[in-house]
Amino acid sequence: MEYVIIGDGIAGASAAEKLSELVPEASVTVFTDEEDALYNRIMLKTFMKGTLPVQYTRMHDESWYGKRGIELCLETRVKEVNTSDNAVILESGEEHTYDKLLIATGGSPRKYSLDDEYENLLYMWTLKDAEEIKESAENSDKAVVIGGGLLGIDLAIAYAENDCETYYLIRGENWWSKGLSKEGAEIVHRKMEDKGIVVMTNTEASEFVGDNEIETVVTDSGEELDCDSVAVAIGQTANSGLIDVDKNEADMIKTDEYLQTSDDDVFAAGNMVEYRSPVFDGCVCRGSWDHSEAMGVCAAENMLGREKVFDYVNTYGVGHFDVQFLAIGDWSGEALEKKYSDSEYRRLFFNGDKLSGAVMIGFTKGQERIKEWIREGRVFEDREELLQKEFWN
Ligand SMILES: Cc1cc2nc3c(=O)[nH]c(=O)nc-3n(C[C@H](O)[C@H](O)[C@H](O)COP(=O)(O)OP(=O)(O)OC[C@H]3O[C@@H](n4cnc5c(N)ncnc54)[C@H](O)[C@@H]3O)c2cc1C
Repeated sequence: MEYVIIGDGIAGASAAEKLSELVPEASVTVFTDEEDALYNRIMLKTFMKGTLPVQYTRMHDESWYGKRGIELCLETRVKEVNTSDNAVILESGEEHTYDKLLIATGGSPRKYSLDDEYENLLYMWTLKDAEEIKESAENSDKAVVIGGGLLGIDLAIAYAENDCETYYLIRGENWWSKGLSKEGAEIVHRKMEDKGIVVMTNTEASEFVGDNEIETVVTDSGEELDCDSVAVAIGQTANSGLIDVDKNEADMIKTDEYLQTSDDDVFAAGNMVEYRSPVFDGCVCRGSWDHSEAMGVCAAENMLGREKVFDYVNTYGVGHFDVQFLAIGDWSGEALEKKYSDSEYRRLFFNGDKLSGAVMIGFTKGQERIKEWIREGRVFEDREELLQKEFWN
């Protein structure tokens, strides 16, 4: 059997590892358009701050694949997939047939509406991006960071930790309004301010002034922020244009609970894939390292015909501060929250009677229990009890 994987992020690399482990004699080929074999994207945030040498972000080298009989094709972009002939077509024109294919191509940074190819307007996803941002942070006196999400904070911290005066523009009322109320986010705002970041909520950029480089960011309230660089993190768009299978409105490839697409020979895993989840009672998309890894492993098993349902519960941590931030599961349900102190907060989400998600700052006790209860769909009659600290002893 010929197994082909497109993408050597954590989803693709984990799938390749699992396939080679379960069927050592199988042919497994991984195509990636990057010049580096798998590295740890989470570590890139520490690398950008200047506190971690680049070699510590590396996870696999080419010999890792060789030892497992996996063929890794670096700097090899797949142009399209011909699902009628079970063939991937590379940008070079070369074709490679498959019996089972895994799409693990993730997403690319969403461009800002005012983007006009400015030289000092940066986005973050790859090691190359991180190298550029690190250099920019080291050489800038003032920077503007745009995007109040989980990645935006990493960019703001990267600039601030490189002693750059940093203005952090957040469109909504607070940082990560997807999962946090204003009250909870206050803790994170204070921690950012302690690092010298100027947090500007309810603020968008309405104009970039400058020719090749942005010299000033004008906000929607008319404030002018002079800067040497601008970094943007406003989400991702799916790298799904290479294949014609069922997709959702945001162009994400859709799969069933076995991570199988509308084409029986094609599976999808990792960021920007929408799958049917038995845990969350519907079609969901999650973007985190552990989740992509688990998806890759599960997809590999299903490519071998094992019929494994994907019932993983995702987590995401932010570790820049002296208090831990942890988000688990789904953050869209009915919310209950409690702020215990200036550095401790918990918000729990419910889908009907079932616990579906949690966001915890400072007080993170019980995270494994929470994951397990979400996964098993445990019903709670007294929800308030879950917000009491004693409950978690
Ligand atoms: C700075 C930063 C900090 C983060 N922090 C956290 C964190 O604290 N916790 C956490 O859980 N997650 C974090 N994440 C997110 C986490 O890293 C991702 O969820 C995870 O890496 C996604 O893995 P993936 O394999 O699904 O996709 P990706 O890693 O995006 O891999 C997809 C790969 O496919 C390649 N590709 C795309 N199209 C093609 C094509 N046509 N041909 C060939 N190759 C192609 C891409 O170049 C890429 O290498 C962070 C991410 C970043 C960038």
